[in-house]
Amino acid sequence: MTLAADVTAVDRASAPDAREIAPGFAALGVTAFTTTRAAGSYGLHGEEPVGTVTARWDDLRASLGGARLASARQVHAATILRHAPGWTGWLRADDADGHIAPLPGTAMAVTIADCVPVFIAHRSGVTALLHSGWRGTASHITGRAIEALAAERCPPAELVVHCGPAICGKCYEVSPDVYGTLTGQAVDRPTRVDLRLLIAEHARALGVREITISERCTRCDNARFYSHRAGDGGRQLAVMLARA
Ligand SMILES: [Zn+2]
Repeated sequence: MTLAADVTAVDRASAPDAREIAPGFAALGVTAFTTTRAAGSYGLHGEEPVGTVTARWDDLRASLGGARLASARQVHAATILRHAPGWTGWLRADDADGHIAPLPGTAMAVTIADCVPVFIAHRSGVTALLHSGWRGTASHITGRAIEALAAERCPPAELVVHCGPAICGKCYEVSPDVYGTLTGQAVDRPTRVDLRLLIAEHARALGVREITISERCTRCDNARFYSHRAGDGGRQLAVMLARA
């Protein structure tokens, strides 16, 4: 591959229409965004050849200055990995849906297509990134991350939290069982639920004050984002990096 081709691919990975910027983080020295359909899919189990998809991950990492990049096989659970520095390259860890970088310079990524990407940062440069679908929300993965950050001397009242593009409360209907698990309320028919509002409630209950929710719905804005419920096999990537 020529150098010119590399630059083009990296430019494409970082083009404005290829990224939905998470607000509130730039002032903390943190890069935080969710890719869009224009960036292509980052899902390793889609219809595209794996080589095409891994090249896309490589281009994205290059666009982050070649920072070490942590990801994991996602299993809709509440395991959160803590990534101490001292390594290079792209990590794909075993089963986990959350990541914490206790020091700047470690990028983290989760794949998303309706589930909620939750970005958390502290002004000290400690960051966390979570993948929270209904199971992760029911098991309070965001709350677990906030508690883990408190142990890193980042109290909840000093955190910035953002819920990125995800399926909205009008588009997301769940079974009575799931609704009951999420809300503790009994219903007798499929009912709509807003995962991002629930996550924000969980965060507020732990003392977080600065919480924003993206207006973007992956299903309403299906031209811009992949949506599992809309039938897409593709995945966008939520990415976070506190610059060293
Ligand atoms: Zn919607």
